[in-house]
Amino acid sequence: VMSTPNLLYLDAVSVSFDGFRALNALSLLLAPGEMRAIIGPNGAGKTTMMDVITGKTRPDSGVVEFRGTHDLTRLDEPAIARLGIGRKFQKPTVFEKLSVRDNLLLSLKGKRRPFAVLAARETSHEAGLIADILRTTRLSDHAARLAGALSHGQKQWLEIGMLLGQDPELLLVDEPVAGMTDAETAQTAELLREINRTRSVVVVEHDMDFVRALNVRVTVLHEGSVLAEGSIDEVSADPRVVEVYLGR
Ligand code: ADP
Repeated sequence: VMSTPNLLYLDAVSVSFDGFRALNALSLLLAPGEMRAIIGPNGAGKTTMMDVITGKTRPDSGVVEFRGTHDLTRLDEPAIARLGIGRKFQKPTVFEKLSVRDNLLLSLKGKRRPFAVLAARETSHEAGLIADILRTTRLSDHAARLAGALSHGQKQWLEIGMLLGQDPELLLVDEPVAGMTDAETAQTAELLREINRTRSVVVVEHDMDFVRALNVRVTVLHEGSVLAEGSIDEVSADPRVVEVYLGR
């Protein structure tokens, strides 16, 4: 019987590609409502960890549980998404030729039949949700613009907004501030903190100023395992972390 209070529970997860251990007995606990930052040098296993959580990669061994009741290693990607785990990849995949608002409407209605969806009128409930998401993602003044005309940072926010349209309990965010201006980076930290008031978040990021601004518990991955965990000040003062980042 599984009785863990964790939202997400990874234990001794290993993944090998052609004999190379991308994840090596990785363990991670995420409390309900928590936001966690994942850092680590290139090749540390961050992407593979996200792939395992979302069902894109099946681990060779180990436990991956959601809400203490769902064994994610037995589910495929769509089933895991339906459970309430949303993932934002690094590269935005918005519909460039549609307005910001229509992108959000599609995310609410499901993207399977875009033209039928857009021809149908939105309900007042949907209009309210879209207004909320536009506010959260700082896009209220850009709702009528084509997504293709947005800045890189705004496209990232729109993509986060489209994930919010699917109402995930846990949001996985892959390098959200790569390529953003300093102002956009600071706003993204605020935006994720706002989202974290109602949802759990795991964010993989290289930008240390951004991770500091998030002000959350940090997990440092190295060679497929957890090297250190704690506040950003704690982990950046840890000699093993310094060694991994500087000693090569
Ligand atoms: P990170 O995201 O921290 O940079 P990754 O999870 O992408 O690390 O990669 C961890 C290691 O696993 C890397 O050495 C990478 O080359 C290897 N790897 C990742 N995916 C595959 C794959 N599909 N096939 C072979 N090797 C892979």
